[in-house]
Amino acid sequence: MVEGAGVVEELEKLFPGKVTRNVSSYLVDWWPIFWIDPGAKGEALAGIKPANIEDIVKLVRFSSSTGIQICVRGGGSSVTGASVPTGGVVLDMRGLNQILDLDEGNRSVTVQVGITLEELENKLNAKGFTLSQVPQSFDQATIGGFISTFGSGQFSTLYGGVEDSVLRLEVVLPSGEVTWTRRRGSPRSSMGPELSRLFIGGEGSFGIITAAELKIRRLPRYVWKMVYGFSSYENAINECRNLLEFDVKPAACRVYNETEALFQFGEQKCIALLVYHFGSKEVMDVITAQVAAEMSQKAETMEPRLVDVWLGRRFNYREEIENLKKTGYMPETVEIGAKWSRLYELYLEVMRRFKDREGVAGIGAHVSHLYDQGACMYFTFLMKPDVNVYRNIWSTMAEVARLHDATISHHHGVGALKYEYLQEEVPVSIIESLKRALDPERILQQPRSFRWAKS
Ligand SMILES: Cc1cc2nc3c(=O)[nH]c(=O)nc-3n(C[C@H](O)[C@H](O)[C@H](O)COP(=O)(O)OP(=O)(O)OC[C@H]3O[C@@H](n4cnc5c(N)ncnc54)[C@H](O)[C@@H]3O)c2cc1C
Repeated sequence: MVEGAGVVEELEKLFPGKVTRNVSSYLVDWWPIFWIDPGAKGEALAGIKPANIEDIVKLVRFSSSTGIQICVRGGGSSVTGASVPTGGVVLDMRGLNQILDLDEGNRSVTVQVGITLEELENKLNAKGFTLSQVPQSFDQATIGGFISTFGSGQFSTLYGGVEDSVLRLEVVLPSGEVTWTRRRGSPRSSMGPELSRLFIGGEGSFGIITAAELKIRRLPRYVWKMVYGFSSYENAINECRNLLEFDVKPAACRVYNETEALFQFGEQKCIALLVYHFGSKEVMDVITAQVAAEMSQKAETMEPRLVDVWLGRRFNYREEIENLKKTGYMPETVEIGAKWSRLYELYLEVMRRFKDREGVAGIGAHVSHLYDQGACMYFTFLMKPDVNVYRNIWSTMAEVARLHDATISHHHGVGALKYEYLQEEVPVSIIESLKRALDPERILQQPRSFRWAKS
C-alpha cells in the first residue's frame, strides 16, 4: 500500500508529464459556499490529465490496488460541490476533447467528453449543425459534466434536456472494463433497460464517461423572437403554458416576474420572451401569425430587441457576479421543477416566506424550461454572504418543494449541497445497491462526501 507523498511519486512514474501537484484550482467549484466560507475547500493529493482511455483504465486499476479515491472532474462548473475532491486524486477530463466522428447523414456526433459545450457547438455550427444544448455555463461545462449532472440547456422547451441528446455512452467502469452502454448504434432499442440513464445524473460515481454519441440537427434557418408584457405574473405563466399546445413549441420561453424583469430589462411589468426555431419560412409564417394573434389579445406586444438583450448578456455571469459581490451581497440560484397545477402557488409561497427575511435583499424569478406537464421556476436570491442565511434559504426552499410535490433540482444535479434531500425524491437504497455492485471498493468518489459548514 502506498500512501501520501508516495502515492504522488508512484503516479508520476505511471503517468509521466500528466500529474500535477498544484491542485488548488481543483479544490473549489462554482458552489457559492466557497465564496461565503473561505475555510471551505476540498482536498486532493494530485491531479491527473489523461491523454487517452488507457490512462484512465490504468488509473482505475491503480486506485483499486491502493484504495486511493478518484474524483472525476470536467469543467468544474458544478454549483453543488459535485466536482470537489475529498482527499484522493482528481481525474481532469479536459484533455480528452476530440470529435471522434461527425456523421452528417445520420445527424449524430461522437465526441470525447472533455470537450466543452461551447467548443463542440462552434465546431458543429461551422458544419451547419447544432447540439441544441446551451447552458449558461456553456464556456466551461464539458459534455461529460453536463451528462453527469443531468443538465439542461436554455432551449430545452423544444429540444429537451441532455437525456434527449444522448444516444449512447462509452464508460470506464470501476472494474477497469471499458464498454458502450449500447454496443450498436440504432436510434432506439428495446434490448434491455436504458443503461445510459445510470450515468446521466450519476455524478461520476458509477463509472467514468469517456465518449458520447449525441444527436445533432441542422441549424435553424429562421429564428422568430417576440416579447410580451403582462400586468399579472399568473396570466403570463398561463398564457405561455397555452402556447405549448400550438403545433410548434418555442425553443426558449422565459417568463420573468416583475423584480427580475426590472433588474434584467428595466421594465416594470412581467415579461415573456419567446424564441422560435424553424426550418421553413412557410411554417414560420403560419405559426408566428397564430402565436401573435393569440398573444396580442392577452398581453402588450413589446420590442423583440429585449430577446437580443438577453441573448447578448446571458454568458456575462462572471462580471455580473463580481459586480454583485462588490455591493456586499451575492446571488444564489434555486431551480425548482413543478407541475403546472402547483407552479404558481409554489412561486407565491416562496415570495411569502421570504418577505422581509433577514439577509435576503431580493428575489427574482423566471420560468425557464417549459414542458407539457410543468415547468422549472428559477429563483435568484440576492443574499448576504452568511452561512446561516444560506442554509436557511435552502432548507426553506426544500420545504416548499416538498409541500408542492416538486423537485429541488431541475437541472443542477445533487452534489454535496442537495444530497440531504435525495432520499425524499428517489430511493437511495437502489442507488446504493448499484454502487455496491459496480464499485464495491468505492474507488469513485460520491459527491455527497464533501462536508460543508453547518450553522
Ligand atoms: C454560471 C453558471 C450557469 C450554469 N447554468 C447551467 C444551465 O443553464 N444548465 C445546467 O444544466 N447547468 C448549469 N450550470 C451548472 C453546471 O454548469 C453544470 O452542472 C455542468 O454541466 C457541469 O459540467 P462540468 O464539466 O463543469 O462538470 P464538473 O463540475 O467538473 O463535474 C460535475 C459532476 O460531473 C462529474 N463528471 C464530470 N465529468 C465526468 C465524466 N467524464 N464522467 C463521469 N462523471 C463526470 C463530476 O464527478 C461531478 O460529480 C451552471 C453553472 C454555472 C456556474
